[in-house]
Amino acid sequence: MNFVIANPTGLCFGVRRAIEQLELALRENKSVYAAGSPIHNPQEVERLSRLGLKVTPSVAEIPGGTAAFIRAHGLSRGEDAELREKCRKVIDGTCPFVRNVQKKAAELDREGYKVIVLGDFDHPEVKGILGHVDGDALVVKSENCINLRARFGKIGILSQTTQKEADLADLASKLVFLTEELRVYNTICRATVERQESVKKLAENVGAVVVIGGKNSANTRALVEISQSFGLDVKWIESAGELDEGWLRDKNEIGVAAGGSTPDWLVNDLTAKLSRL
Ligand code: SF4
Repeated sequence: MNFVIANPTGLCFGVRRAIEQLELALRENKSVYAAGSPIHNPQEVERLSRLGLKVTPSVAEIPGGTAAFIRAHGLSRGEDAELREKCRKVIDGTCPFVRNVQKKAAELDREGYKVIVLGDFDHPEVKGILGHVDGDALVVKSENCINLRARFGKIGILSQTTQKEADLADLASKLVFLTEELRVYNTICRATVERQESVKKLAENVGAVVVIGGKNSANTRALVEISQSFGLDVKWIESAGELDEGWLRDKNEIGVAAGGSTPDWLVNDLTAKLSRL
């Protein structure tokens, strides 16, 4: 099977760092607790769980006196404080780029801007960002930007790190007419942009794309959506075993892309399977 792999693709700096921190913590502690999935990849979380990772729904369920890990997507200020208060040891896996968004959100809030976050309302990173704002904040997705009717005094926009640049530009251009003053921080992570650009290049040269990554991964979803926007046949899988050989049969060349939270071993399994066909 002819296939070409997007470049760059797969694990981003922040998730690779979080996995390495977790592996080290699991060597030093019998078990390590995390509130919510520490990495948006179910197969990697399962592997780490076999080494002693324990995932709880929230910080409240983490027992006191234990070792705890803060996910790459970060926590709200309140959750962070609760964790540090009750745990024996806290390993902070918050990606520095996510930390930067949290700091910018707090700064805008302090300076009297209405904070508007481009992102997915239910995403842990967005919840964490909102948890650094004391005043009112609004989360918007690109498709509902047009519903914004209210006028605001001062608006500060920032973005979840994995959103699309075009959506941020679209939001800023709409909000500029609804405010006296607009401050925009492009907090979309470079790793995200580079992976999205590499998929666009790939999409121009292939007839179909396989995207591998967690169904709960926002950056993987963005790669799927970009590929679909080129009118390609796109398969979104979490592991090589899900790839149906029948679907591959009539394809001459396919592109392969992996989300920023997809570990190397899953990408390698996929390319090994494609090489055998
Ligand atoms: S996508 Fe960027 S911000 Fe998010 S974890 Fe990876 S490096 Fe950090």
